[in-house]
Amino acid sequence: MRTLAFTVLIVTFLTGCQESPTGRNRLALVPDAVLADMGQDSFEKMKQQNPVIKRPDVNRLVQCITEALVSAAQAEYPEAPMPQSWEVAVFDNPTPNAFALPGGKIGVHSGLLQLAENQSQMATVIGHEIAHVLADHGNERLTQQLGLQAGMLLVGLFTESEIAEDQIQQALGIGAQLGITLPFSRAHEEEADLMGLDIMARAGFEPEQSVRLWQNMAKASGAQPLEFLSTHPNHDTRIASLKSQVAAARSVFETVPPASCQI
Ligand SMILES: [Zn+2]
Repeated sequence: MRTLAFTVLIVTFLTGCQESPTGRNRLALVPDAVLADMGQDSFEKMKQQNPVIKRPDVNRLVQCITEALVSAAQAEYPEAPMPQSWEVAVFDNPTPNAFALPGGKIGVHSGLLQLAENQSQMATVIGHEIAHVLADHGNERLTQQLGLQAGMLLVGLFTESEIAEDQIQQALGIGAQLGITLPFSRAHEEEADLMGLDIMARAGFEPEQSVRLWQNMAKASGAQPLEFLSTHPNHDTRIASLKSQVAAARSVFETVPPASCQI
């Protein structure tokens, strides 16, 4: 890990910035294969440590939505590095949440199935999570962490053993236990929202339902903020920003056959 950290630091100086799929400057320097392995390991652990729902109807539904979104994402963002395969699991957890890990591992909470009124609202959240993966947001966050730690190694404040697995998980946005979802930055959230909206429209899910979904999230949160809301931007800001993009997404939606996954 020390070697990786130093490599990242040196490469940082050598390569400068790259662009994200929406043209944002960023640094994402961890090799994709390394990150995909980390995502896969974390996902396996989460499935062992948390109850997974094995109802065929539920799994068919999320599988159908995910497959439709993934093929639309490929068409919409052909330049983005695509995981070799995607896997989706439904976790028995009442909070309306979802997450995605590098390597194409997606987790959906059963609480999201309760909250979403239709397939397009489910697709809003899963599309947002797929966008985090395609835009390599976990890589950016890990690059930042390792960059900082590599600097600390250089001045002797940090030892190799202190770069622990939980820090890697932190960079990926998850805790070992389900229910601890760490915030992505505001820039990452906005990018995932915009890409997610494009992806869902291209896949034949009604873009207007994205606004409805976030309104439902806001309503459900009541006095106690839901986890997803508390780690994501203020819902009024998010709804306003989506509303301003819905017309463009609708014009894409009208050119494709409607999705039919049902709920
Ligand atoms: Zn997000």
